[in-house]
Amino acid sequence: MRIHELAKELKVDSKELIKKLKKLNFPVKNHMSSVDEETAEIIKHEIQDLNKKEIESNVVEVNFPITIKDLAVRLEKKSSELLSDLVRQGKFFNINQNLDEKTASDIAYNYKVNLRQKPTMEEEILKRDPSKLKKRAPIVTLMGHIDHGKTSVLDYIRKSKIVEKETGGITQHTGAYQVSLDKGVITFLDTPGHETFTAMRSRGANITDIVIIVVAADEGVKPQTIEAIDHAKAAKVPMIVAINKIDRPNANADMVKQQLSKAGLVAEDWGGDTTTANVSAKTGQGIDELLELVILHSDLMELKADYERPAIGVVVESRLSKGRGALASIIVREGVLKVGDWCVCGLHWGRIKAMHDDRGGNCLQAPPSFPVEILGLNGVTNPGEQLMVVPDEKTAREIAEKRRQEDKKRKLVPRVHLKLEDLNKKDSEVEIKQLKVILKADVGGTLEAVEGALQKIPSKEVELIITHKGIGAVNSSDILLAEVTDSVIVGFKVTIDSHVRDLAKQKGIEVRSYQIVYELIDDVIAALEGLLTPQVKRTFAGRARVKAVFKLTKVGIVAGCIVEKGKINRGLAASLTRDKDVIFSGKIQTLKRFKDDVKEVSEGLECGISVGYDGIKEGDIIDTYHEETIARKLK
Ligand code: GDP
Repeated sequence: MRIHELAKELKVDSKELIKKLKKLNFPVKNHMSSVDEETAEIIKHEIQDLNKKEIESNVVEVNFPITIKDLAVRLEKKSSELLSDLVRQGKFFNINQNLDEKTASDIAYNYKVNLRQKPTMEEEILKRDPSKLKKRAPIVTLMGHIDHGKTSVLDYIRKSKIVEKETGGITQHTGAYQVSLDKGVITFLDTPGHETFTAMRSRGANITDIVIIVVAADEGVKPQTIEAIDHAKAAKVPMIVAINKIDRPNANADMVKQQLSKAGLVAEDWGGDTTTANVSAKTGQGIDELLELVILHSDLMELKADYERPAIGVVVESRLSKGRGALASIIVREGVLKVGDWCVCGLHWGRIKAMHDDRGGNCLQAPPSFPVEILGLNGVTNPGEQLMVVPDEKTAREIAEKRRQEDKKRKLVPRVHLKLEDLNKKDSEVEIKQLKVILKADVGGTLEAVEGALQKIPSKEVELIITHKGIGAVNSSDILLAEVTDSVIVGFKVTIDSHVRDLAKQKGIEVRSYQIVYELIDDVIAALEGLLTPQVKRTFAGRARVKAVFKLTKVGIVAGCIVEKGKINRGLAASLTRDKDVIFSGKIQTLKRFKDDVKEVSEGLECGISVGYDGIKEGDIIDTYHEETIARKLK
C-alpha cells in the first residue's frame, strides 16, 4: 500500500502523514513509498492513537453552556467559518445559541480540540490527598419489595444496637444512623427504597457502599425485588441479600435462592458469589450475622477517606423547622465537619451553628461516614446535594451566587436523553455502540418472549443492554433508572400513568409503548441500525484540470481550471490527483466564473476552484464526487 493511499484512508494530508510517521519512527521517503499490508495496519492504529492523544492533550477549558460565538473564539476560528462548517455537516445553529457540553465538545473535536469544563473554585477545594486516607465506616441502604421487612430490619438493628437510655427514649429522625459493633461501625440510610437511592444518584450522589436486598422468605423474589437489584447493579454497588421472615412457618430460603439465581444473583452456598443471610426482624435471628457480613464486605472494599481535608458531606434529608430554620441531615464523606465551619450546600450557604447526632445529642465534630443534622444553612436543600466546607464567608457567598447563576443558565438548556429516532439520525462521528433498554410488559410470558426476540437481533457492533425488565405499568422508578443509565423505556401492552408520563417529559426520557410485538422489534432494529456507522457511496460528478494557480486576497489559493468532464459543483467532495496519485481529499470550497461565485460549472468551461489545499499545482486533476451515506443493515 502506498503512503498517499494510506493518507487518504486516514483522512490526512500525505505530507502530514509522513511527518507523523517520522515521529513514530516509521521513516518513509515520500508519498509514493509503499508499505506491506501488515505494516499499514500497524501504522493505521498508531496514527489513530497519535491523533487521539494529540486531541486529548490539546485541552481548552471553557464554561458550559457556551455560545457558538464564544466557542469560535476559543477554537481560534471565525464564527462564520464555524457556522458554515456546521452547515456542511447538516447542523444549523445561530451565533448566540447556547450549546451543551456534548454538542460543543463534539464540534471542538473536529477541530482537534479537547473541550473541558473549567475547574471551578469548588473543584480546586475538593481535591483529595491520597497519602492522608484512613479507614471509614460503610454506608448501607436497604432495598426490596414492599412489606418484605426493610423498615422492620432497620428498626430491629436500631433498637438492639443503640441503647435507648442514652437518648432518654427519644429517637431522632435524621435520615441515617450509625451502629457500633465490636468489629466496626456501620452507617445505615434510614430511608429504604430504591427510588430514594436512584433519586440521590441522579443528583450525582452515590453514597451507598453496600445494598442489602431484603426478600421475605415466605413470599420470595417479587417485581420490586428485581427492580431493586437492577438499580443496585446499575449503580455498581455490591449487594448482600437478607432473607427475612425466616421465623414464619412457610419460610423457604431455598426457594428464594433459586429465584435469586434466576435474577442473576447466585448464593455462595449455591456456588455463586452473592452473600446471603437468613434473618428475622421479629425474633432478631441472624441479624448479628448479617451485620458481621456487612463489616466483612466493607473491610474487603477498603473504604477510605481523607480526614484532614476540609469536610464534604451529602444531604440525606432536609426540612424547615419553625423555630430553628433550615435543618439538613448530612453524611460526612471526607474531612471532619465542625461547628463554626463556613459551608456551601447546593444553592445555599451558611455557617454551622449547631450539630446533632442520630440520638439527638449535641456534637461538635463529625468524621467521615458519620450522620449529623446541621443548623445554619440559609435555605432547604435537596437530598443528594453536596455540602462543602470553604475557608470563609466570602468564598461561601461567592460559590453559592455563582451556582445560582449557572443553575439559571442550565435551566435554559434542558438535558437531552437518548431517543430511539435520534439513534436513527445520529451521524457517524458520534460513537454510540450500546442501546440501553428498560423493558416493561403486561405479563411474564410476553416479557420473556419480547426479551428473547430482542436478544435474537443479530449485531456484532452494537450491543443491546436490557437495564431492567419488569411486569406492569411503567412507573416513576423506571424513569429515574432510565435517567441515570440513559436508557430508553419500551413498554409492551402496558399503561403509563399521566403523572409518570409528565415525569418522563420533564426529565426528557423517551417512553414508547406498543401493542404489536413486531412493531416493537422493528423499531428497536431500526434504532440499532442507526447505531451502525453508515457506509459512504461515491459517484463521479466531474473532472477539472488545473491550468494556473493564483493567490486571491480574501480566498487564498485558487486554481484556474478547465472542466474536462461532467460538471463541477460547489460543496461536492473532491480529490486532487497528481501523477496518478491522490494527494489530497477535501471539498470544492469556492467555485468562481470570472469574478462571480457560482454553484455549478459545466464541461468545457473555465473556472476558479479552491479545495482548501495550498500546495495545488498546474497540471493537477480535481475529481469531484457525490457522496451518499447508506445506513447499514444488521442482517
Ligand atoms: P417494608 O415495607 O419492607 O419496610 O416492610 P415492613 O418492615 O413494614 O414489614 C411489613 C410487615 O412484615 C410488617 O407487618 C412487619 O411486622 C412484618 N415483618 C417484618 N419482618 C418480619 C419478620 O422477620 N418476621 C415476621 N413474622 N414478620 C415480619
